[in-house]
Amino acid sequence: MALNYEDVIKTKDSISFKNQAFINGKYVNSLSEKVFEDISPVDGGLVTSVAECDVDDVNDAVKAARYVFEKGSWSRMAPNKRKKILFKFADLIKKNILELGILETIDMGKPISAATGDIAACVACLNWYAEAIDKIYDDVAPTRDNIIAMITKEPLGVVGAVTPWNYPLLMAFWKIAPALATGNSFILKPAEQSPLSALRVSELAMEAGIPEGVFNVVPGFGPTAGKALGMHMDVDKLGFTGSTEVGKLFLKYSGDSNMKRVSLECGGKSPNIIFADAPDLDVAAKQAADGMFFNSGQVCDAPSRLLIEKSIKDEFIERLIEYSKPWMPNDPFHPDTSMGSMVDKNQASRVLDYIETGKKEGAQIVTGGEQVNKDTGGYYIAPTIFKDVNNSMKIAKDEIFGPVLCAIDFEGEKEALKIANDTDYGLNAIIWSNDLNKVHKIAKRIRSGKVLVNSMSDGDMSVPHGGYKQSGFGRDKSLEAMGQYTQTKLTWIELK
Ligand code: NAD
Repeated sequence: MALNYEDVIKTKDSISFKNQAFINGKYVNSLSEKVFEDISPVDGGLVTSVAECDVDDVNDAVKAARYVFEKGSWSRMAPNKRKKILFKFADLIKKNILELGILETIDMGKPISAATGDIAACVACLNWYAEAIDKIYDDVAPTRDNIIAMITKEPLGVVGAVTPWNYPLLMAFWKIAPALATGNSFILKPAEQSPLSALRVSELAMEAGIPEGVFNVVPGFGPTAGKALGMHMDVDKLGFTGSTEVGKLFLKYSGDSNMKRVSLECGGKSPNIIFADAPDLDVAAKQAADGMFFNSGQVCDAPSRLLIEKSIKDEFIERLIEYSKPWMPNDPFHPDTSMGSMVDKNQASRVLDYIETGKKEGAQIVTGGEQVNKDTGGYYIAPTIFKDVNNSMKIAKDEIFGPVLCAIDFEGEKEALKIANDTDYGLNAIIWSNDLNKVHKIAKRIRSGKVLVNSMSDGDMSVPHGGYKQSGFGRDKSLEAMGQYTQTKLTWIELK
């Protein structure tokens, strides 16, 4: 989308924020009338106060969602009709792409070009699942002649989702789209840092024709509203995206309540392995920087551990420093800005603490390492690269979730694989080499949900996204995600 700075500012200044919860087709205050402050990391200023939902509000949302599910006005609607409504929903989002993008820039400081790109990806996601609805058939099992055994997929019922702030709408739509497409009712608890785009999109869902109660948004905090969804006895499934630490809580919530299904998209510390025989070291260096500094490094599958073969280490790091320069933070509302702010003050101090830890551990900073643009009042950190990192250091073990790249060197295939797998996470891995044998061997042995070869690009809606190990389980995107929002029924009929 071609953006113009004046248009962005004009639209930004004309926005009136939706700051109430969205339950049963209406904007409402929280029952307690409590609100929380929505602060923009762009300049540290107060944006608006947002309804702070808690157990009672979540109960209301679940009641509405269950009622409409049982009524069948969405869950039993003919798939081709549901499809048309979802297409309309996607069209309305597309029409409001600039406003929704601006809301995400305001809330979490990502550059407007990236924010509108994320909204375009939500549109594509919704269209993809809408297109799929009436093209998936159920099965009849190959039984003996007097039996008809139908294996059918049914919606689960009430689906809850608790999502992070790094891609506020996109992470939600990876769940909303397949869940609605398969006929479920949905309740979203967006991250407290970034509720505004989800609240605005709620009225577009109604305008598209999604029945009241099918799509609900309960803004609030994790330990209250998030936990209430996780613990609810009448929520059938909880889709979570966020940190591994909180992901583990959702497993407990499920066990302590109704054994609801849980799928978890959690943290990562992904290895990006550069062999000396990479097809093009320059392309690899550019993509290593782009992949790391995009979204201020606040990306679950960011290539944050850069494994470089010793023989090319110095040369590669030189190129990397050059390619990190265009990522200096700037005004997030300017269409030319590549990196914006961190999501909030806490995240910025967390990242700066990790930078101090890295220095103390003996790693060497080759570029960045400090907070910048302090005069804006916002929270900006320069793209930072550490070299001489050892994989046992804290900065190599923990998910920093900021623009901090850790370069670790290795010698040979065996050591590369050992370091790559020496992590609690398993979300993404990238291999750069021209040797097909080596690539295949490593790709097979890496324990991660995704392996990219000679490119940082990871495809489109048709491929699954999710982790191994403590990066979670279950998959977003692709037809696999539809399976997560349906359950399988066997109907066995004996013919007389
Ligand atoms: P977070 O875990 O702190 O919060 C995520 C959500 O959980 C928020 O809505 C929050 O309010 C809620 N929450 C927090 N504490 C809770 C509690 N006690 N009970 C119930 N809910 C609670 O994560 P974050 O800081 O928002 O996001 C960053 C994390 O998300 C990173 O670890 C990142 O890797 C991960 N992430 C993963 C993926 C993926 O697809 N694997 C995608 C994006 C982000």
